[in-house]
Amino acid sequence: MSPPPPAGADLHLHSSYSDGSFPPRRVVAEAASRSVSPIALTDHDTVAGIPEALQAGTEMKVEVIPGVELSAQDIDQEIHILGYFIRWDDPALQRTLNVLGRRRRDRLTEIIRRLHRKGIPLTADEVLQIAGKGTVGRLHVARALVLRGAVGTLDDAFDRFLAQGRPAYVERTGLTASEAIVAIRQANGIPVLAHPGSSRLANLGSLIQAGLQGIEVFHPAHTTADVVTLTRLATKHGLLITGGSDCHGLAKGRISLGTIRLPLAYVECLRQAVRSHRTPNA
Ligand SMILES: [Zn+2]
Ligand SMILES: [Zn+2]
Repeated sequence: MSPPPPAGADLHLHSSYSDGSFPPRRVVAEAASRSVSPIALTDHDTVAGIPEALQAGTEMKVEVIPGVELSAQDIDQEIHILGYFIRWDDPALQRTLNVLGRRRRDRLTEIIRRLHRKGIPLTADEVLQIAGKGTVGRLHVARALVLRGAVGTLDDAFDRFLAQGRPAYVERTGLTASEAIVAIRQANGIPVLAHPGSSRLANLGSLIQAGLQGIEVFHPAHTTADVVTLTRLATKHGLLITGGSDCHGLAKGRISLGTIRLPLAYVECLRQAVRSHRTPNA
């Protein structure tokens, strides 16, 4: 019999409130069945799934850390900023997320206009039906294109139409990186640079200046060399270290939840950092 997998956390998970395939309750159930705890629900630009995840976590004895993954523009590239232990019902955060939602819908309109120009009569409704309650993004457009037979696979959809430089690519006009970091800090969360690999680090200094507190070191897209480099950088700059599977349920293939198990000592460091945010009267 193989030994049980080590205890650990998975701090990067998506639900059907963004582009994951499972509702939050199912995400928690998958974590429970793999003995992964704590988990963080980090949907793209929305916190709408958090109440359901917290409720399910209580019932299934999985600790759920309220999180979010904000898309942001950093000089000439899109980066993602994770926020942990956020006060998800903070009104300022909610307002920011509402603005982002509107911009995502505007972007969808433009993507569809460009697809029409390429002779693909996709409608916004087809995409929104797939997105359901969630924030709408390119992955939903890709799934709609597969569904109507315009392309064979999700990768085809990106390669032919949706990836940067392709005919239906539309840049997002979202937050700047420092706005994303500030939005998370104002909701009392810990901002962490998501999956930087080795290519999204050019501007690290100014992100730290804006209030960045951590780097996602452990991520399926990272090579062993990336992990070494990122760990060294985190240590050098006194940044927290996080990690997670970035599981999208079945939306991007197999269920990857729990394939990354962040040692619990790192989660403790996050907790300490949140505590030190809070002033005695806050
Ligand atoms: Zn991301
Ligand atoms: Zn993600």
